Amino acid sequence: MSSKNSWFLLGCLLMMGMLCGCPQSRQSSKKDGKMYVVATTGMLADAAKVIGGPHVRVDGLMGPGVDPHLYKATAADTRRLATADLILYNGLHLEGKMQGLLKKMARRRHVVACTDNIPKKSLRKPPSFQGYHDPHVWFDVSLWQFVVRRIGEAFAKADKAHAKEYRKRAKAYEEKLIALHKWVKTQVSSIPTSQRILVTSHDAFGYFGQAYGVKVVGIQGISTVAEAGVKDVERVVDLIMKSKLKAIFVESSVSEKSLKAVMQACAARGHVVKIGGSLFSDAMGAEGTVEGTYLGMVRHNVKTLKRALASDKK
Ligand SMILES: [Zn+2]
Repeated sequence: MSSKNSWFLLGCLLMMGMLCGCPQSRQSSKKDGKMYVVATTGMLADAAKVIGGPHVRVDGLMGPGVDPHLYKATAADTRRLATADLILYNGLHLEGKMQGLLKKMARRRHVVACTDNIPKKSLRKPPSFQGYHDPHVWFDVSLWQFVVRRIGEAFAKADKAHAKEYRKRAKAYEEKLIALHKWVKTQVSSIPTSQRILVTSHDAFGYFGQAYGVKVVGIQGISTVAEAGVKDVERVVDLIMKSKLKAIFVESSVSEKSLKAVMQACAARGHVVKIGGSLFSDAMGAEGTVEGTYLGMVRHNVKTLKRALASDKK
């Protein structure tokens, strides 16, 4: 090959590299030598920290009490996303207002929809979500295992030097999830069948109901974008009156407005329904607390349910 030709070839290769802009497998581009991971929800950030261990620095965008359906990325979030080595998001339209930004980021960076390896047949498709899948998969602990495995694989691919460790930690975490799944089943089975009804603000707990045999009634539907209407409230009040249900539940990341409307309507019909406690739904508890971890959050929810409903014998 003449030198002229080889210069031409080199030029072409350089151009291709520039035009492609494909995400490359990167090895800790940051000064601290750690892979920088940005996760949207707290549950994903928690899993990323457990699996990443000392080789990964994790930033979670949505803190305690934040509603992912309504969340819009701030300028600081966009900067974080733009410098991340790897971006983790839930997918299934959970991050409804971030779709465009995540799509844009995917052109340049590794962006992983952590629910994309869950078998389609395991995903709920409730009529109220207009043909889309229910995104709240973390409430079936056995489905969350797929997410954990997915993150482990994504880390192993992005930082090959520590691939073995990531896979090992993901496997160990999966074992914990298997034990937790069994524990939830046992706890729920100790609640009398007639009382296994969970009324809460929005329909986040569908997977929980499906996996553990609890009838779930959300006042607001799957997403929190639409507010509960009069009909929604009436439908729930009828059910509460019929089953003489004593307790309904508050969600940490959703307004209590619709629950209060239900309580007032029940009272007007002569039935007192109390708040059985606060459940973590789309966001976890404060960082540094037990409920600030996925395992702790699930346990908190199940204990709260059991306390309010198991004692509710009639
Ligand atoms: Zn939700």
